[in-house]
Amino acid sequence: MPSAPVYRGRFAPSPTGPLHFGSLVAALGSCLDARAAGGEWLLRMEDLDRKRERPGAADSILRTLEALGLHWDGTVDYQHRHLERYADALAELRRSGHIYPCGCSRKTLTATARSGREGPIYPGTCRAGLKPGTQARTLRLRTLPDEIIAITDRIQGRIALDVNAELGDFVIHRADGIPAYQLAVVVDDAAQGITQIVRGADLLLCTLRQRLLQQRLQLPGLTYAHLPLVLDQQGRKLSKSATDQPLDATTPLSSLKRAWHFLGQVPLPADLDRLEDFWPMAIAHWSLSRVPVETARTSPNFH
Ligand code: GLU
Repeated sequence: MPSAPVYRGRFAPSPTGPLHFGSLVAALGSCLDARAAGGEWLLRMEDLDRKRERPGAADSILRTLEALGLHWDGTVDYQHRHLERYADALAELRRSGHIYPCGCSRKTLTATARSGREGPIYPGTCRAGLKPGTQARTLRLRTLPDEIIAITDRIQGRIALDVNAELGDFVIHRADGIPAYQLAVVVDDAAQGITQIVRGADLLLCTLRQRLLQQRLQLPGLTYAHLPLVLDQQGRKLSKSATDQPLDATTPLSSLKRAWHFLGQVPLPADLDRLEDFWPMAIAHWSLSRVPVETARTSPNFH
């Protein structure tokens, strides 16, 4: 039997709109890092939130990736096909006492909770049981006081956080009945045998939540590299659902060159003008250590 590859990476877009320059940067960084290591690069469509999904967006993302020469290994994985997997993980967490039902609405939380780096920090209202007369809306993961979760990111270095104090117990099953992103991503990364994650630094705090969840589920930890997030000239994050900056798939090479440059890589030959010449060159010269150690950077041009 062939042995498992030492490097298995992935790109995991949500089909909430067409690909934009920020998602291209994440796709290119994760693909090149995998290819340069002789590893695999898988594609997973994170399509659990059917309400936020834009009709046709999944196909448009796949077509754009193909037009750019970002070819994934195997078949595309779709999260909506794995509901049983998430239910099994929830059942395990329930059995081990790591989750509890919560009846708080976003509105009550905004009114009562201390605000943290990513919105209100859940004050533990339902930890000891639901308040009389309230019904469970979500399921939350129980964090422990003074539990420091740390990762050593290949770009950003060591990131450590007291999850209980700084993020609080977080939702892993949503009020609308959908497994939360944190749960689904951890379960799927493990099921797909992912070893390395390269993605935008907007997900750094999520990574600490995911590391905690991996520990609770006794899953192996992964290696992470968080790329600087692309900001527009006004300092805003690009958004697929806002669709104001979709990538122009008719000029793939110039988009790739811009993403390559954004990632701080060596200058490409001035006469490089064919997509098929970009890829071998990029794989041969990719260097993660050249990626700027920043969590966000402005880009002058997105198309
Ligand atoms: N689906 C997420 C997004 O499109 C990315 C998740 C991940 O890379 O873990 O932002």
